[in-house]
Amino acid sequence: MKSRILLLLINLASLKADQTPFSKNTADPGHLCCNKLFESLPSKVHLPGSVEYERQQYDYYSLQQAELQPSCRVTPTTSSDVSLIMKTVTTNLCPFAVRSGGHSAWPGSNVQGGVTLDLSQLTIIDIDEKRGTVGLGPGSRWKAVYAAMEQYNLTVVGGRSPNVGVGGFMLGGGISLLSFRRGFGCDNIVNYEIVLADGTILDVNATSHSDLFWALKLGSTNYGIVTRSTTREELQVIIIGGGDEIVSVWHASLDSVPGASLTDTPTIADSTRTTSLLNLVGDLQSSAFVETGRRRTYTLTVKLDAPFLWDVFKHAKDIFDKLEYVSGMHWYLIYQPITKGFPIKSSETGGSPFKVFWKSPMTT
Ligand SMILES: Cc1cc2nc3c(=O)[nH]c(=O)nc-3n(C[C@H](O)[C@H](O)[C@H](O)COP(=O)(O)OP(=O)(O)OC[C@H]3O[C@@H](n4cnc5c(N)ncnc54)[C@H](O)[C@@H]3O)c2cc1C
Repeated sequence: MKSRILLLLINLASLKADQTPFSKNTADPGHLCCNKLFESLPSKVHLPGSVEYERQQYDYYSLQQAELQPSCRVTPTTSSDVSLIMKTVTTNLCPFAVRSGGHSAWPGSNVQGGVTLDLSQLTIIDIDEKRGTVGLGPGSRWKAVYAAMEQYNLTVVGGRSPNVGVGGFMLGGGISLLSFRRGFGCDNIVNYEIVLADGTILDVNATSHSDLFWALKLGSTNYGIVTRSTTREELQVIIIGGGDEIVSVWHASLDSVPGASLTDTPTIADSTRTTSLLNLVGDLQSSAFVETGRRRTYTLTVKLDAPFLWDVFKHAKDIFDKLEYVSGMHWYLIYQPITKGFPIKSSETGGSPFKVFWKSPMTT
C-alpha cells in the first residue's frame, strides 16, 4: 500500500498537461483509435502521463484492473459521445473496455493497449415524481443515488455498497437490501438507453426491443453500452441492519432456537440498528472493503441449507487462520440468500434470464 502511494507521487511529479501530443506508437493496438478520438473529442481523451489518465487509473477497486495500461482513456459526457466512440472503435477494430464504477473484482473494465471508455462523468440522477421513476447515469454510485433520493423520501432497489457503480450493478442482476420484496435491481428497470456497436442509440423496454430488454438484465457489456437506466422509485424504507458483525450475527442466528428474533440472539459485538439505506450502506464505506488491493473472488450457489453454510464457514476459517501471518491479507465470506421473493418480482416485470436458473430458495 505504501509503495503504491509513493509510485503515484512520483507519477504526479512527472505529469504533463492533458493536451499531450498524439500517440506515435503504431505497434500499440489502440493507437489509431486514440488519435482519431483525440481529433474529435480533444478534451475528453486522456493519454498516459496526463493528470486525468493517472487519476482514473488509480480509481479502481482492484489492483489487477489498475495495473492494465490502456493506450488512452476517454471520458464521454453524453450518449452522442459514446456513439461516436463506439463507431470509432468498431470500425477500426481497436480493443476497448467499459468502466462505470470500476468495482469489478477482476480485470473487466480496463484494457491493456486499447481504449477504455470511462463513464464516470455520466452521473445524472433524474427523479421524475410524476412517473415514479428515476433515470440513472451508469457512472453514478449508490451512495450518491440514495442521498439524492432521500431528500424526497424516496429510494431505489440499488446496491449495498456505497461505491459500486450503477452501470455494472444494473447489468449484472443487482442484489439489493430490498431484493427480498422487490427482486433484483434489474427487475425494477423500466427503460435502458443503450448505444449499440454501430453507434445507434436505442431506448429498450418491455414494448420496444423487448428481447434485448430481457437479455440486458444480465447482459454486462455484451449487447452495447448502457448510458442510462430508468428504474422505479420506492418510498424510503427504514431497515434493521448492522455493519461489521455479520459473521457473529450469522453464527448466533444459526445456533438460536427457531422463531427467536434476530435481535434476541447473543453476538460477539453488535452494530445492528434501525436506520436508513443511506446510513447502512455508509457502514461499508469505512470497512476494509474499500482498501485498494489485489482481489480474488469466488462464488458458489447452493440450495438454502443452514448447517451446510456453517460447515463452509468452519472450513474457510481453518484455511485462513493458517494464513494469519500474511500481512495485509483479508478474507471475507458473504452469504446472500436468494429467497422466493426474487423470482416472483422478476415475473411481474417481464422476466429476466435469471428465471431460467431458479428452482428453489438458494444461497450464493
Ligand atoms: C465491495 C463490493 C460490494 C458489492 N456489493 C454488491 C451488492 O450489494 N449487490 C450486487 O449485486 N453486487 C455487488 N457487488 C458486485 C458489483 O455489483 C459488480 O462487480 C458490478 O459489476 C460493479 O459495477 P461497476 O459499474 O462498479 O463496475 P465496473 O468494473 O465499472 O463494470 C463491471 C462490468 O460491467 C461492464 N459495464 C459497466 N458499465 C457498463 C455499461 N454502462 N454498459 C455496458 N457494460 C458496462 C464493465 O465493462 C464490466 O465488465 C459488489 C462488489 C464489490 C467489490
